Amino acid sequence: MKLLTYESAGALHSGVVVGNSAIDLGTTPLEAILACPDELARARALADAPSEGLPLDGLNVRAPIVRPGKVLALGLNYRDHAAESGSPVPAEPVVFCKVSGSVTGPGAPIRLPEASQKVDYEVELAFVIGRTAKGVPAGRALDYVAGYTVLNDVSARDYQREKPGGQWTLAKSFDTFCPMGPWLVTPDEIGDPQDLALKCVVSGQTMQASSTAQMIFSVADIIEYLSRVLTLEPGDVVATGTPPGVGFARTPPRYLHAGDVVECTVEKIGTLVNPVV
Ligand code: ZN
Repeated sequence: MKLLTYESAGALHSGVVVGNSAIDLGTTPLEAILACPDELARARALADAPSEGLPLDGLNVRAPIVRPGKVLALGLNYRDHAAESGSPVPAEPVVFCKVSGSVTGPGAPIRLPEASQKVDYEVELAFVIGRTAKGVPAGRALDYVAGYTVLNDVSARDYQREKPGGQWTLAKSFDTFCPMGPWLVTPDEIGDPQDLALKCVVSGQTMQASSTAQMIFSVADIIEYLSRVLTLEPGDVVATGTPPGVGFARTPPRYLHAGDVVECTVEKIGTLVNPVV
């Protein structure tokens, strides 16, 4: 099942995708639907009994979780990407935050800030938490995942790599630096999250192409690691790291510029498209 958030007449609605249309689930936020078995069952019943929906084409689709309680992300979680970054393969997950205000939706512009000249793309598989998780072992961790989406972990490399101390949080939290979508896909349609092709195409050129099989720490490992420290709550988003091919590691570097279009695709989910302005 594919679930999305869209805006209509100034209000945010949740919806379930059926074919090329969306069926309205009302104004209950998606994170609340994900946390409620009855609401999820209602959505599934609507998905299984096709009825008249709103055409996706022309729908004002927003990020599936418009303002997550938290957005956590992993650095250097693909072996080859660690190598291209000149970093050793980490023995434990490297975790940072993106502030939730950086979240934006499919089709919305990534705005280049005046403060950075080195804005980069990173296609990632992201998962959304559906049940409160604290101290969850990896063996049960996937039970806490409500769904998966595509996330572009846009990064200002001059902040991340050239400021004192390495300003990862700021580098990755500029406004509009967390495009997410186009929707959330429930785990039953994903199967094994460690066997998904993913790629990033910038203005027609394929920059990243890999598989989540290359991840160092799996989705289940990540939930165990994070939930040892903090409580994961419904609607929280975790980005699982990016494969090789990012702009700063290319020769010459390829940073985003105005007019670019970034297309991030994860198998079984879809493609997140954002123009750069
Ligand atoms: Zn990343």
